[in-house]
Amino acid sequence: MPAKAKRPCRSPGCRHTTTERHGYCEGHAHLATGWTQRRRGQSGRGGRPWRRIRDRILQRDRYLCQPCKRQGRITPATEVDHIVNREAGGTDADTNLEAICSACHKAKTARESQSGRG
Ligand SMILES: [Zn+2]
Ligand SMILES: [Zn+2]
Repeated sequence: MPAKAKRPCRSPGCRHTTTERHGYCEGHAHLATGWTQRRRGQSGRGGRPWRRIRDRILQRDRYLCQPCKRQGRITPATEVDHIVNREAGGTDADTNLEAICSACHKAKTARESQSGRG
């Protein structure tokens, strides 16, 4: 007669055995469900939200450097900058962020570091 292979439950410390494919005993079968759910949930989480914020701001500002635009120049933006520096209490709110080109970003950072540290 074909004997089903009994394996010890995968839950640490559990002394029960199981013939289930997921490897958990009856009492721990819910852990198997949680295991698959966790795997599915991983795609939504992970990664820093900054990338998503950045993309949103670039799209909002149509990928144009806002400081350049205020001076009547059209320059493609490659970065997103905090209007009020985070060290000065600025937040990650959309209203405190704007698209900026690397030249403007460098100039702004240089200016800030100069005035910030005398
Ligand atoms: Zn168990
Ligand atoms: Zn610029």
